[in-house]
Amino acid sequence: MLKITPYLGILVIIVSVAGLWFPLLGYFLLVVFATLMITSIFRGRWFCGNLCPRGSFNDFWVGKITRNKKIPGFLRSLWIRIPLFAMMMVFMGYRLLSTEGVINQIGMVFVIMCIMTTSIALVAGITVSPRTWCTFCPMGTVQNLIGGSKYQLHMDDSKCVSCKKCDRSCPMQLDVHTNEHKPDCIKCGRCITTCPTNALAFKP
Ligand code: SF4
Ligand code: SF4
Ligand code: SF4
Repeated sequence: MLKITPYLGILVIIVSVAGLWFPLLGYFLLVVFATLMITSIFRGRWFCGNLCPRGSFNDFWVGKITRNKKIPGFLRSLWIRIPLFAMMMVFMGYRLLSTEGVINQIGMVFVIMCIMTTSIALVAGITVSPRTWCTFCPMGTVQNLIGGSKYQLHMDDSKCVSCKKCDRSCPMQLDVHTNEHKPDCIKCGRCITTCPTNALAFKP
């Protein structure tokens, strides 16, 4: 299984900082959008746990300075997440229309989006838990809606000893040791690695 690496997170810094001088770097976000849309069809939020630069940034950089608190449950509600997604799309659409097609200005819109979302992810990650932003990130919500039922984590009841080590290892703070549907599982596989009895596995 592919594992997210600390180095991917550096891309977030490059786009957010160098993008102010080189707006074309903003187009990197289009590569990210396209990749996560395609992978979500087959594996739900797999991109979030294996390829997302901001996910890596949250895990490996924010993770060093976080207070590691419980993520408030209301942030996971689709009643919050879908309006947030719509607001972000409207805001981005409005900003794109105002560029009148100038290539550099379009790039700068994406750079500004990256700076805004990185700032929120950073503050939420430090004050609560590294992946707090990922519970309501619009791109995570899209993947949840497209492929939340795909590639589900399955727990073998006959092997589970209810130690809950899997729960404690989950960056999304999910109730891992149940066979409930987990559309926000980011398929990072940490619970599988942590389980002492090999009770967990993904099912295509
Ligand atoms: S929820 Fe958003 S920021 Fe977090 S890993 Fe997924 S796409 Fe990246
Ligand atoms: S770590 Fe494994 S054995 Fe322990 S609660 Fe989770 S699934 Fe069960
Ligand atoms: S349930 Fe397991 S695979 Fe899914 S996000 Fe949590 S630790 Fe990662």
